[in-house]
Amino acid sequence: MDGTSRNLSRRKFMITGAAAIASPLLLNAAGSIAAGKTDKTNTAGTGIAKGTKIYYINDGCVGCQTCRTFCPAQAIRFGNCRNEIDQKKCLHCGTCYRECPLSIISETEIGATYYEENKNTTTKVMDCDLVVLGAGGAGLVAAVKARDLTGGKVIILEKAKKPGGATYFAGGLASVKDSKWQKDAGHEVKESQDITGQFFDWFVTKGDAEKFFRVAKPEENRQWAIYTLPRTEKYKNLPDPSIGPGRGGTFIVDKMVECCRKQGIQMLYETPARKFITDNKGKMTGVLADSIEGQVLVNCKACVIASGGFGRDFKKLKKYWPEEYNNEELFVLCPPGVTGDGINMAEEIGAYIDQTKWSMDQAGGFFANGPIHHPYSWAVQSLMSNAMFVSINLKGKRWKNEGGFGASLATQPGSVVYSVADAEIIEAVGSQLVSSGAFGPMGSAVDPDSNEAKAMKKWKEDLEYEAALDEEGARGNHTKKADTLAELALKMDIDPLMFVETIDRYNNFCETGKDLDFGKQTQMLKPIKTPPFYAIYGHRFSQCTKGLHGIAVNSKLEVVNPKGEAMPGLYAAGDACTIYGGLIIDGPSARRTASAGTPSGASGGVPSGMGGAPGAPEAGVNVLSTEPSPCGGSSGAVISGYYAALGAADYLKNT
Ligand SMILES: Cc1cc2nc3c(=O)[nH]c(=O)nc-3n(C[C@H](O)[C@H](O)[C@H](O)COP(=O)(O)OP(=O)(O)OC[C@H]3O[C@@H](n4cnc5c(N)ncnc54)[C@H](O)[C@@H]3O)c2cc1C
Ligand code: SF4
Ligand code: SF4
Repeated sequence: MDGTSRNLSRRKFMITGAAAIASPLLLNAAGSIAAGKTDKTNTAGTGIAKGTKIYYINDGCVGCQTCRTFCPAQAIRFGNCRNEIDQKKCLHCGTCYRECPLSIISETEIGATYYEENKNTTTKVMDCDLVVLGAGGAGLVAAVKARDLTGGKVIILEKAKKPGGATYFAGGLASVKDSKWQKDAGHEVKESQDITGQFFDWFVTKGDAEKFFRVAKPEENRQWAIYTLPRTEKYKNLPDPSIGPGRGGTFIVDKMVECCRKQGIQMLYETPARKFITDNKGKMTGVLADSIEGQVLVNCKACVIASGGFGRDFKKLKKYWPEEYNNEELFVLCPPGVTGDGINMAEEIGAYIDQTKWSMDQAGGFFANGPIHHPYSWAVQSLMSNAMFVSINLKGKRWKNEGGFGASLATQPGSVVYSVADAEIIEAVGSQLVSSGAFGPMGSAVDPDSNEAKAMKKWKEDLEYEAALDEEGARGNHTKKADTLAELALKMDIDPLMFVETIDRYNNFCETGKDLDFGKQTQMLKPIKTPPFYAIYGHRFSQCTKGLHGIAVNSKLEVVNPKGEAMPGLYAAGDACTIYGGLIIDGPSARRTASAGTPSGASGGVPSGMGGAPGAPEAGVNVLSTEPSPCGGSSGAVISGYYAALGAADYLKNT
């Protein structure tokens, strides 16, 4: 629950459905607290029958395509960087409302007055051994493993209406070493089993893992890799393999939720943790949270913070990356509730928060400078990534070598560009994409009948779908298509004279084979001359912060203060925690140049500004693997959740 709805829940709250249609903010609030008393009022003038339920997609939409896939009326279409409901086509069936993994579709009844009495503000008190903040991958694994080890009472507090967090959308595992699966597949495994292998062997005992994961074969030469198999049955029709639930992360979440139910782990949804309670020695004794009914105090002996990073806290993102978070266009994939609450709470009681100056090159897929068309269609994104396209900014000018790296879209007006091509280029690149077949894990070739291959074959369909939306006048930044360059420029809202001049100049470079402006490779210089012309919208995106600027932890995943001292009973895992001492695994392909945890330098062993807490006693200890990496991600999240549970269970046994 965000601040707005929390405040609203504390006072008398009244809204009529008709008024709510005009106000997404109110609708959002109504959607989350509409459980109150219902009273029918006049709906005259709305044109919609009294009692009809209206659905509205709010700003937190990450464009995962689930609602669009499940809608029986094709009433949901791409809007302005998120999906939107065409109210004229909507059957008011509520399927999208129920299926949205983020619960950010609002439901309101026309003519109803949602009326909430003054809420009971007294504090509900609960007791447990371990409280876990967040029901994402890290939190769920931590809770189940701790319960397995201790048999103690575990409570999970979750801010959202549903479990999963960012993990629900992730591809799942990749980096696992020394598991039994790997041994059985013929890989060489170490006797002293890596923690990643320990985690995976435990996870397999929970059942069904073979339906969702497969181990790399020895000949694939990736002895650390566990691949995710195609999407789960429920989500198999999602149109785009690059986004949406149904992959390994979803399976891990669903499996762990099933374990929580079986093992009596209590899960409180819409109950965001707000404050830690400690005794006079700094020992963890409880967590204060908010809920629809009022405040909840959960007394505990230990806590695992697994409430994710801060990919939706724009104030903090701007503080750490001012050039990137420049208030210009940026598509955000991070779930709306992931605002760094656990990090803030830990800092409030004296935890050290990582101050490393990361560059975006080290940010582990957290930010993409573009041009990116994600998440509309992976095939369209793949098309526009080809260097034969011409990249045009909103002033109608080229701004970089389309085949080169490093130019930041943040420097361009609005942080937006269009990738422009003519009919010949589109056809050439499209057929090349389909014939190459190289769009499996890590760019490997895939089975031609796979989801990925099928999605890629739809490149033309996807492109024309978007162009048609634009023709229909749907708002948004869809692909533009026109028979003349001037017409195309007008659709892009770019000065036609400037645009035509730029393309003419570029076409001259194509004739001479020399790009005098940006030095693009000669073989990529193809003239823009054959109609129809296309312009694919490109922007930037950001995802989850993946441990960057998170809570510093030691090699047991205990939260540490600026002196490097463990804060008793407090653990952190997943994106909430910065990896200290090279703690979190990542595939060898993602090896970092920054050597977090190098056992030398100032501050008690951790080079200052490298992610460790100054003075921390366990600098340089590399517990989980030999690859130093500051990056979380879904593998890092679930394995660190497992590892934090080992520490917390030990602590609980000894307290
Ligand atoms: C679209 C998308 C695709 C991704 N794909 C990949 C991928 O393919 N591979 C990969 O490695 N990584 C991927 N990632 C990143 C990866 O999902 C995350 O790094 C990882 O899942 C984080 O796990 P977590 O458990 O730490 O946090 P999350 O899964 O985000 O869970 C945190 C939970 O805490 C809850 N919470 C927040 N505040 C509070 C509070 N105050 N009280 C209680 N609960 C709270 C949130 O609602 C959330 O449910 C992807 C992320 C996204 C968004
Ligand atoms: S309510 Fe039903 S018909 Fe309307 S947009 Fe949602 S899923 Fe589609
Ligand atoms: S997050 Fe996904 S399911 Fe929810 S509204 Fe957006 S596209 Fe639809």
